[in-house]
Amino acid sequence: MTEKTRCIPDFKEMRRDMLVEEVKDPKYIYIPITDLRCPKGDTCVAPGDEIKMGQLIGTRHGGFFDQPIYSTVSGKVVGIEQKLHGLGSKVECIKIENDFKYELHENVKPRTEKEIKKLTKKDLVEIMEKAGLVGLGGGAFPMFIKYKTDKPVEYVLANGVECEPYIISDYQLMKSHAREITEGLVYAMRSVDAKKGVVVFKEKYPELAVKFNEAFKDFPDYDLEVKMIKCFYPQGWELQTIKSALGIKVPVGDLTVDHGIIVSNTSTLYGLYNAVTQRLPMMLRYFSVAGNGIKEEKNFYVRIGTPVKDLVEMCGGYRDEENKVLIIGGPMMGTNLTSDDFIVSQTTTSLVVLNEEKFVEEPCVNCASCVYSCPVNIQPVQIMRAYKQKDKDVINSLEVNKCIECGLCSYVCPSKIHLTEYMRLAKALVK
Ligand code: SF4
Ligand code: SF4
Repeated sequence: MTEKTRCIPDFKEMRRDMLVEEVKDPKYIYIPITDLRCPKGDTCVAPGDEIKMGQLIGTRHGGFFDQPIYSTVSGKVVGIEQKLHGLGSKVECIKIENDFKYELHENVKPRTEKEIKKLTKKDLVEIMEKAGLVGLGGGAFPMFIKYKTDKPVEYVLANGVECEPYIISDYQLMKSHAREITEGLVYAMRSVDAKKGVVVFKEKYPELAVKFNEAFKDFPDYDLEVKMIKCFYPQGWELQTIKSALGIKVPVGDLTVDHGIIVSNTSTLYGLYNAVTQRLPMMLRYFSVAGNGIKEEKNFYVRIGTPVKDLVEMCGGYRDEENKVLIIGGPMMGTNLTSDDFIVSQTTTSLVVLNEEKFVEEPCVNCASCVYSCPVNIQPVQIMRAYKQKDKDVINSLEVNKCIECGLCSYVCPSKIHLTEYMRLAKALVK
């Protein structure tokens, strides 16, 4: 049976009105020195140092950029400790003993309206860089690199589509901070002289349209619009969001800015708002613990650097300790972890805990569902076969690098073949 799948259950309805839990901050906060895009890093503080909230405590080094690291509490540096990273490997973290005073570093002070008005395009891009803002939709790409452009930009899109099942953190932020996200969008538009700002989310959230349209009234000099798009997967993928919201088809592999468009996640724009108005790097984020493997699902507004174990405890623990699957991020594109010894970082949105269902992979029945469902029109089943033969030429000719690892091919396969994993392996083979 050939099937083109676009709709997947997202399990968000029952989570939509869940309260956001107040969390008492933990005694120890852990800030990673390296991350997804920055394999190297160093710290400028030492054990015993007293530090303030918002103080620079180190730098991560990416291939072609540096990213500042800030403390999210005031207190004392205790040492370096390893914690799991969202990618499943351990990274070194600066361990800080929280003094619960939240004293701000002297560099963190609000800008006046007059100062904000005077900010140039260059100033705004520098603020993005100094605040260490990265794409919070999962990619963690530095924001300033996207906006440091001389190309003409027609649109800045605020992407609030959040299409992964279970994840509801962007929705929570949009519901509570539409005004601030709009202001962040306006600063992003100013940084590239964009003509139009568009806030995009799913059509099933009309309550957000009311909030954003109200917020737009405070910015009469800017051309702002809400676009509500249909609920299919993967609508949050940048190129799909652009196509659905603007009707513009950007070919896979092209830079969106070459088509006059820059896309930023709504949480990233909220970060820009704080960086511009308060000179404040990201301190807190929404984080969900969800899935049928956790005793009580909860949404949290939590400090960056909080151990996820603490949050699991607040949810009453796991339903079945022995047979649980831990996924950081969503079940479609997230990463499986072997332990919950990881911390909330800028880019972690959620922990999904599922009761393990043991699937036995069956032989391919040539149904072609994976091919018909693939949003980038490649052929997962053929790539899998080429990978098994270790045939690099065929893998390359099948354009595996177009794969966005959306997980749809694995989801639709009636033989339960984990095709997405084969795509990752095939990509690694030809890299
Ligand atoms: S994971 Fe890759 S190959 Fe599979 S459907 Fe998504 S884009 Fe296509
Ligand atoms: S890999 Fe799965 S989805 Fe793809 S053709 Fe084979 S059985 Fe169908």
